[in-house]
Amino acid sequence: MSPSNTPVNSENTTANDSAPRDFIRDIVYDDLGAGRYPLVVTRFPPEPNGYLHIGHAKSICLNFGIAEDFSGRCHLRFDDTNPTKEEQEYIDAIQEDVRWLGFDWGEHLYYTSDYFEQLYDWAEHLINQGLAYVDDLTADEIREHRGTLTEPGTNSPYRDRTVDENLDLFRRMRAGEFENGAKVLRAKIDMASGNINLRDPVIYRIMHAEHPRTGSAWCIYPNYDFAHGQSDAIENITHSICTLEFEDHRPLYDWLIENLPVPSEPHQYEFARLNLTYTVLSKRHLMQLVSNEQVEGWDDPRMPTISGYRRRGYPAAAIRDFASRIGVSKANATVEVQSLEACVRENLNENAERRMAVLKPLKVMIKNYPEDQTEELDALNNPNDETAGSRKVPFSREFYIERDDFMEDPPKKFFRLAPGREVRLRYAYFVTCTEVIKDDNSQVTELRCTYDPATKGGNAPDGRKVKATLHWVSAEHAIDAQIREYEHLFTAEIPGADGEFLNDINPDSLTIVENCKLEPALQDASEGETVQFERVGYFCLDKDTSTEKMIFNKTIGLRDTWAKTQAKS
Ligand code: ATP
Ligand code: MG
Repeated sequence: MSPSNTPVNSENTTANDSAPRDFIRDIVYDDLGAGRYPLVVTRFPPEPNGYLHIGHAKSICLNFGIAEDFSGRCHLRFDDTNPTKEEQEYIDAIQEDVRWLGFDWGEHLYYTSDYFEQLYDWAEHLINQGLAYVDDLTADEIREHRGTLTEPGTNSPYRDRTVDENLDLFRRMRAGEFENGAKVLRAKIDMASGNINLRDPVIYRIMHAEHPRTGSAWCIYPNYDFAHGQSDAIENITHSICTLEFEDHRPLYDWLIENLPVPSEPHQYEFARLNLTYTVLSKRHLMQLVSNEQVEGWDDPRMPTISGYRRRGYPAAAIRDFASRIGVSKANATVEVQSLEACVRENLNENAERRMAVLKPLKVMIKNYPEDQTEELDALNNPNDETAGSRKVPFSREFYIERDDFMEDPPKKFFRLAPGREVRLRYAYFVTCTEVIKDDNSQVTELRCTYDPATKGGNAPDGRKVKATLHWVSAEHAIDAQIREYEHLFTAEIPGADGEFLNDINPDSLTIVENCKLEPALQDASEGETVQFERVGYFCLDKDTSTEKMIFNKTIGLRDTWAKTQAKS
């Protein structure tokens, strides 16, 4: 990346060779080459009416990524023009999430509400130019007058009010003289335009509502179309990047920029929004999941929100990697959720420290191991990263293995523990099962083994081989924990494709496993750090952990087993 923060030209805009190229970056590159702008300025403009999701992450990586690649800057702007849906909680969560993703807006934190006075002045400017009027039609009537894709609209009877009358009414709207919905301000463009967005769009509405930032200072609010481009212009945004559904709004965006005395001329570019299989990505739907208590909250580890993924243990770098791999295009498509999971798995395989934990414990006792002895064995923290070092794991006479790692009557291809068979305990010894203990219902409750003291560290001096290596946890030293395992939140590839998306909820998306046994080093696990439980999967400490109980979330399995289970069912 170019370290320069001074105006850029085509020589120093190449960023680094590995920087992604896409049609938007191509445009930026050309613009800088042609000297159209001294500096690239982008913005990420969330409406604070919910938490950010993985689709927003795509937009964040694009906007902040372009600023980084071209030595420009990216603003975080809260698009807070609808006080009835917006809350401080969301403003705080959004900032936390963007920061966690690894991006920094520096001093460039803005709110559309900071521009309310300026926007209001520009609305009066339009009125003065004969380009806006106060309309008394109701929302339904306005819709009826709008026409259709094939028929032109019809003029409102209030369209030809004089400038003075419009100014007077607009000022009285601001002063609070009218009820919600009694009047609106509309841009006066063309009721016969082929683009419905240009048929005298509403630009101000009356809303007697307390705003999280401006309190009761205002009872009229600009809508998205009127606020967005002008806010871009105030901030000297050069490339205003949004999703495809705003493509038809671009002529209105441009019309407003042309007809107002704005300080700069931003341009809007549209890209395809991210859709993911087995996932819903709309704040409205996510809000429903939260308010219907289908999930625990916005940061439930099954949610496709940034805070949900964080709690689930997804590394921020894996999400950035995903965003760069899916790229940016103008064609709407649905990405397989497995490709996100693959990025997570790849990142964790490289970076996660290894620990031992037994999820479904079966007790084992070594008959020939000294009763009161404990050994501290060396275990590697990460075979993919020498610098991660090693740790000590206590080993003693009694320990746990996974129930599934033993079969009394094993089929041919089962190579793990069975009566009479020898296996390796990771980092410890070779052990041979000599006895199976059962309860009254013939359930196996414990195994007895012998061990070979000469195999300490897990290798036999005589070179003999075993076919399996099992993980284990010393019984005396084990920490009891709860593990929460997750499946996709929806059973349908495209939730809601056949109607109500709530009908596609997976009733088994959460499985709680109690009495899991963890090696003692996990006592020091910290929230936000994901570790590999050897042979089991990736896990991270959940925030619900208390002094009484450790709780871990399963981040993801070691392999993609979803395709397999789907094929079976
Ligand atoms: P939703 O449709 O999920 O409710 P939104 O578009 O209303 O989201 P905003 O807060 O307005 O949410 O979005 C902020 C920015 O994020 C916008 O520029 C928007 O285009 C972008 N964005 C939202 N959803 C996606 C997505 N699925 N993929 C890519 N970008 C998205
Ligand atoms: Mg929106």
